[in-house]
Amino acid sequence: MVEDPRRAIPRTDRLMEHPQLIAASRTLGRSVVLGLVRAAQDRARRGEISAAEVVDAVLEAAGSQRASSLTPVLNATGVIIHTNLGRAPLSEPARQALADAAGYVDVELDLPSGARSRRGAAARAALLARCRHADDALIVNNGAAALLLAATALGGGPAAVTDGHHHCSHGGIVISRGEFIEIGAGFRLSDLITAAGTQLREVGTTNRTHPEDYAQALAAGAGCVLKVHPSNFALTGFTASVATGELAALCREYAVPLIVDVGSGLLEADPVLPDEPSIDGALAAGADAVIASGDKLLGGPQAGLILGTGETIARLARHPLARAVRADKLTLAAIEATLRAGASPVHAMLHADPAELRRRTDALAAQVGGTVVAHDGRVGGGGGTGVPLPGWALALPESFAAVLRTGDPAVLPRVHDGSCLIDLRCIPTDQDPALANAITAAGHRLGNGR
Ligand SMILES: *Cc1c(COP(=O)(O)O)cnc(C)c1O
Repeated sequence: MVEDPRRAIPRTDRLMEHPQLIAASRTLGRSVVLGLVRAAQDRARRGEISAAEVVDAVLEAAGSQRASSLTPVLNATGVIIHTNLGRAPLSEPARQALADAAGYVDVELDLPSGARSRRGAAARAALLARCRHADDALIVNNGAAALLLAATALGGGPAAVTDGHHHCSHGGIVISRGEFIEIGAGFRLSDLITAAGTQLREVGTTNRTHPEDYAQALAAGAGCVLKVHPSNFALTGFTASVATGELAALCREYAVPLIVDVGSGLLEADPVLPDEPSIDGALAAGADAVIASGDKLLGGPQAGLILGTGETIARLARHPLARAVRADKLTLAAIEATLRAGASPVHAMLHADPAELRRRTDALAAQVGGTVVAHDGRVGGGGGTGVPLPGWALALPESFAAVLRTGDPAVLPRVHDGSCLIDLRCIPTDQDPALANAITAAGHRLGNGR
């Protein structure tokens, strides 16, 4: 009788005692390593590997495991702020700052005196150094949190008293109906504001809002005005809106603050995106508080930035909600490093030279085949709506897309009109060889011998 070769498969407890797997259990977790052991044993039972190869298979699998299951992706879509890929990729200094801040850090401590200090003072200073029209700044969890805090702290107050008489109700936040936006799937600005109990005072119509519309709501006792940059759509045709400067003057008349949500977090105007408002531009026009995301055009980590007058920022910082939405030390470290470094990867991708993109795409085509076609990149993330960023893509058969997504490294191409398009705009240049290898490997997996 021939001995069943499956009986030679190493047992689970023996494998788990291997020194390298004991070490791997400490970083990856025992259950993950156990899963790798069982997977290798299963492969041996199916006859894919021999019993003698099980140990090496487990060690190899453990060696290529990451501490988290989040898989790094090469973004070949040409969309810079890709929400499904975590928006802005961080600069090298920001990555270094994250690693440095991972342990104990002096985020709320003055080391020379040993006294407690203002949390995130350095990140705040870095922000103020880049926005000369701001007196003060507050950094919170994300743009939505910034909006929630500002709307609640500045537009709060008792809801409308409706007893049939002409009582003025105090508080509430005024927004134009032309700026009622849904930001991401199902996330509506108006719902966010009312969720915290703030009264919403809608003014104007979808296409036109005039100064008198705002003036009426202010005369009725509104607590503040919110102007939102409708970042993911554009109104054209018979339209009217009130510019930030004019709205600021009106707000001063009624002594209420003006909040401007610029969305994308451009620090200063950028000629590539002529319709995108900048933080400093909105402050210069008279906004009391400007809100922006940290991980869109600013090119930093997820964060909500609020910049404005000393008085307004102090009101926000004092509000109880401020504690619930505060930024963590990793965010503060990465924001500071992003701002101090100057140009971010997002900025470089936005300003990528089409001729250079063409050279890289041609070189890739020479290595892996395919056709070079003109291809416009996009800002994405609800910014720079409709602005094409001229560039190039390598067109491959559509069947490449799924294989590239599950390859190593994972590559996310754009699937369009029956083609798999590889746009190099958002691929770091030093990753071009890895991308070429991934495409070659995908070709082999598809079995067409490229
Ligand atoms: C993106 C965006 C937000 C939400 O910011 P998050 O950082 O995603 O929470 C709010 N307002 C506008 C105009 C935006 O573009």
